[in-house]
Amino acid sequence: MPKSLTDKELENFKDKLLRQKEETWDEIMDDLKHDASEEYHDFLQMVCDQVDYALAELKEETVFSFIEHKYRELEKIEQALTRIESGAYGHCMDCGGWIGGARLEVMPAAVRCRKCQEELEKFDRVH
Ligand SMILES: [Zn+2]
Repeated sequence: MPKSLTDKELENFKDKLLRQKEETWDEIMDDLKHDASEEYHDFLQMVCDQVDYALAELKEETVFSFIEHKYRELEKIEQALTRIESGAYGHCMDCGGWIGGARLEVMPAAVRCRKCQEELEKFDRVH
């Protein structure tokens, strides 16, 4: 298992991350555009008139969590890009261990090794 990435591999991951970043922004923009449509405003107005708040809440929550989810992805991508610049890319930000090329190949934005990520998710579920 190699302990560092070649410049070529780093370039490759950087390309992937930049593409992911663009795609994620596009998805957020699409979603915002969609929700700014007249149809949505009419829908919200109608729901408010009907005092059917639960439905509006549900809709708003769906939109919000989608965008929040996307923002989190963007944050991770930014973090990974920063780590490429600082030379820390490929190493776990929690334990400093090697993340592994195969894991980065699937998830270029991974900043933690599998073990630390699982710990974090366990923690997230409890809280
Ligand atoms: Zn770790």
